Amino acid sequence: RAGLMAGKRGLIMGVANDKSIAWGIAQALAAEGATLAFSYVGEQLQKRVEPLAASIGMPLVMPCDVGDDASIDALFAQLQQEWGAIDFIVHAIGFSDKDQLRGRYAATTRDNFRLTMDISVYSFTAVAARAAAMMSPGGTMLTLTYYGAERVMPHYNVMGVAKAALEASVRYLAEDFGRDGIRVNAISAGPIKTLAASGIGDFRYILRWNELNSPLRRTVTQGDVGKSALYLLSDLSSGVTGEVHHVDAGYHVVGMKAVDSPDI
Ligand code: NAD
Repeated sequence: RAGLMAGKRGLIMGVANDKSIAWGIAQALAAEGATLAFSYVGEQLQKRVEPLAASIGMPLVMPCDVGDDASIDALFAQLQQEWGAIDFIVHAIGFSDKDQLRGRYAATTRDNFRLTMDISVYSFTAVAARAAAMMSPGGTMLTLTYYGAERVMPHYNVMGVAKAALEASVRYLAEDFGRDGIRVNAISAGPIKTLAASGIGDFRYILRWNELNSPLRRTVTQGDVGKSALYLLSDLSSGVTGEVHHVDAGYHVVGMKAVDSPDI
């Protein structure tokens, strides 16, 4: 296969359906010659992910619940057996009780705080450690975050706190693995209508607000994120690590509502 990712093999975690950000990234990587493996959680998603992977000629699809170390170990044992080594991973996974993704952050329960941090933050560290053990210099890792880590966004609540911790993890992991020539970065994506996003209160309003007030006066697509992921996962970004790269039509630079934006 020819292309920027020719000869490179990587794991994509977090495809739920064809709207998933992970799927947009997978398509961009496959178009540049990467060989991909996919992980999913639950039988329901297996039925969705297998045909998507097959549609781009990638047969390797494996289960993994990132809340369970044994499940992560089993995934990497299988990858070790199939490939022996890996060049990159994409972690596009987050979870929180959707009843707490509306209303006040202060109402977060201890149980949901733990669960959200475990699935949305610790899982990247757990996966990164196993992946690094299979990587050579030039290996790359990518996770997905959101502006709610930096500023208060309506309804994002405990997920914003988790994303702040995830972004800090990216910096610590970049230091841990940098001496081995392995790079770790994050994309802070603007809002995109996906399964996970549908759990966030007033999501349509948030999308519309971004469309009216971002410098590009639009929202971003899975394709926009896919192209930037290609840069961060490929040798094009060889000098970049520990970075949180915004792919949000510029929304994060704006200080107030655009003057041409109507009241909504
Ligand atoms: P999505 O629903 O398509 O993907 C979320 C994935 O997380 C699903 O595939 C789901 O199966 C997986 N997941 C949840 N719990 C899991 C577990 N225990 N083990 C393994 N997998 C598990 O939604 P998405 O919007 O594509 O989300 C991908 C990432 O992008 C998330 O980290 C999300 O926070 C982030 N993000 C999304 C947006 C947005 O607006 N959609 C913006 C910025 C960042």
